[in-house]
Amino acid sequence: MKKEIRELVNKGEMLPLMEEFYTIQGEGYHKGTAAYFVRIGGCDVGCHWCDVKESWNADLHPPTQTSVIVENATKYSNTVVVTGGEPLTWDMTNLTKGFKSKGMNVHIETSGAYKLTGTWDWICLSPKKLKLPTEDIYKKAHELKMIVYNKSDLKFAEEQAAKVNKIVFYIYNLSGVNAIK
Ligand code: SF4
Repeated sequence: MKKEIRELVNKGEMLPLMEEFYTIQGEGYHKGTAAYFVRIGGCDVGCHWCDVKESWNADLHPPTQTSVIVENATKYSNTVVVTGGEPLTWDMTNLTKGFKSKGMNVHIETSGAYKLTGTWDWICLSPKKLKLPTEDIYKKAHELKMIVYNKSDLKFAEEQAAKVNKIVFYIYNLSGVNAIK
């Protein structure tokens, strides 16, 4: 990647865009809501069961101007879900400013492993043992989503739930879903 492009990505004026699509939110509190999904490349958390490992290497995904991402989303929906990868790898200020200027509802799905940037109407926090969330995001999250792969993950889920001002707490085992509250 050219140095100038890398600098724009580091400032959040461009972002490595893996894919974008209009669909129905299939998980969590907003399940059933039509939304435009924006999947940002880049994640170094390293969950072994991750189902989007192709997102990990940001260099594989084209740096895209945030204004283009915003323009695309507004054609489809007034709700956008920013996911990854780990979107907070990057500064989300510029992207979310663009969405908010169009009056959109802006959601994020994040492990919380990096500093919370951007303006969000809904934060779905999904903590991972390998890289814990920053303290700041626990109080700001609207929804907690925990992935349970083995027994110790249940204990971890309970510990994380105790830290969050949660509205909804979802546990996903890898063969189904249980909404706890
Ligand atoms: S945080 Fe998400 S994208 Fe990153 S490795 Fe874990 S499941 Fe995959």
